Amino acid sequence: METELPKGTFKPLAKILGPLSLWMAAGWAVYPYLVVKVYDAMGETVNAGEVELFSYIMVPTFVILGIIFIIYGFTGQEVPDAQINALNPEKWPCPRCLKPQAADSKKCENCGMFIRK
Ligand SMILES: [Zn+2]
Repeated sequence: METELPKGTFKPLAKILGPLSLWMAAGWAVYPYLVVKVYDAMGETVNAGEVELFSYIMVPTFVILGIIFIIYGFTGQEVPDAQINALNPEKWPCPRCLKPQAADSKKCENCGMFIRK
């Protein structure tokens, strides 16, 4: 029994992941310099080209991800909380078998586990 989520359910998550992705991109942009610095401080040499190559992949990836998340998270209609709450009317998963149970039940209908609350 799959319940379809209303469009835009993940907007709040995207609002966090968007800026976080850009932050990650910035981190990856600085990363090669840090690695080289650390290795320099230890008196060792590191193949900076190899580290940079990895950064060249990670930076655009996170920039694109960040932009997608931000566009999705900050544009369009938000789902009202009521609509999200209506998806899951007072149900919670059984700790043992994870089957959703009515909020007022004392015992799991599926596996018979007693619930203490
Ligand atoms: Zn159960």
